[in-house]
Amino acid sequence: MDKIVSLCRRRGFVFPSSEIYGGIGSTYDYGHYGVLAKNNIRELWFQTMVQERDDMVALDSAIILNPRVWEASGHVGGFTDPLVDCRTCKLRFRADKLDEAQCGRRPSKHPGEYSECDLTEARQFNLMFQTHVGALEGESSLAYLRPETAQGIFVNFKNVLQIARRKPPFGIAQVGKSFRNEITPGNFLFRMREFEQMEMEYFVLPQDAEQWFQYWVEERFRWYLNLGLRESHLRKREHEASERSHYSSATTDLEYLYPIGWSELEGIANRGDYDLTQHTQHSGAKLEFVGEDGERYTPHVIEPAVSIDRILLAFLVDAYDEEIVAERQRTVLRLHPRVAPVKAAILPLIAKNADMVDRARSLYQELRKGQIVEYDDGGAIGRRYRRQDEIGTPFAFTIDDQTLEDDTVTVRDRDSLAQERLPLAGVRNWLGDALERPWQTPKPS
Ligand code: ATP
Repeated sequence: MDKIVSLCRRRGFVFPSSEIYGGIGSTYDYGHYGVLAKNNIRELWFQTMVQERDDMVALDSAIILNPRVWEASGHVGGFTDPLVDCRTCKLRFRADKLDEAQCGRRPSKHPGEYSECDLTEARQFNLMFQTHVGALEGESSLAYLRPETAQGIFVNFKNVLQIARRKPPFGIAQVGKSFRNEITPGNFLFRMREFEQMEMEYFVLPQDAEQWFQYWVEERFRWYLNLGLRESHLRKREHEASERSHYSSATTDLEYLYPIGWSELEGIANRGDYDLTQHTQHSGAKLEFVGEDGERYTPHVIEPAVSIDRILLAFLVDAYDEEIVAERQRTVLRLHPRVAPVKAAILPLIAKNADMVDRARSLYQELRKGQIVEYDDGGAIGRRYRRQDEIGTPFAFTIDDQTLEDDTVTVRDRDSLAQERLPLAGVRNWLGDALERPWQTPKPS
């Protein structure tokens, strides 16, 4: 993990938030390449979940909802973690994650392992961030930052049903920030207090719920494999009844082998009719499906939920590689070309050669109309290649002496380091095709 954190910082993917003030726990800011990679992940998710389907609509609900939403959903009463305090070192830990926590003493041990450790009984701590709406602070103005995007979908169920004229099975997909006052911070992008969720609620006939649940587990698993994650590092894990959330009748996690061990990347839950029933009872609005022939029922819901941040971390871990090339170490991010922040670099071999620079810049102007590409004429060509390798750029086009003679360029492949020559005029189409091709990591499993 240290290598990933250091590369992310060095190359401007991710910075600790408000760093000049000492940071704020488990909160990160994304720099240029981080933003580009996140945009790609969001677009790829949206393309598969919405654009390429007939049974899906999009939504963008507010972050601050009427607080009664969170009473009905069970979050005010039950979205808690059990916490213990140590009376000796005055630190606070998650009671169910003591084996992941570090005691305040040195050398560090887990809380409870020193004879002086004096832990309190566990107390429930609500993870929702509170705020106030309007000018007056008081009970009546209390509100919450959403801890998940899903509830914004449930409270809009009727709107979508009526206006988008949908009939189960259909889904509503939404991407947006969620907030949780996480108590076991650390582990970089894996557990943040502010993260970007991508959730989809799929409404089905009650008797079909089990079948759709299995369908979505498989769909989501395949999505990661198609984007090049190593199958040896991805697995499905069914929750035991005791682990499941209050709303869920079945949950399967897709787990990735992060440096911290196998951990939840995405969760797929069968939420039954819990949410629609709760909101019907609390709001009085009947959240049910009524067919033209008068049939009426409360649909059951299947939910795949994930954050872009956890996906990006999995992709970075899976992609990170070091190898020796020509007696020098090379660090390379073997990202799927569609996930890579920059698709191609355009490099004049000799930065002082005005003809090469002209040709390179005009190729750059042409390519950037369709793709995120970079022009770079700073430093020796080897260093420029290595810079691109570290941010995962899959292709580099180099303009050299031969270009000036015959209008061809070299294309260098990030993974194999193979080079071939292409006509300058065909580069744009070549790049478009290359980005469409299936890709598999050359890393051994
Ligand atoms: P965990 O058990 O790891 O706390 P969870 O079961 O509470 O996760 P869910 O409520 O199922 O997580 O959230 C759905 C998805 O949102 C997770 O699979 C994960 O991808 C993402 N997610 C949840 N909490 C965080 C967080 N603090 N930082 C980044 N992503 C998160």
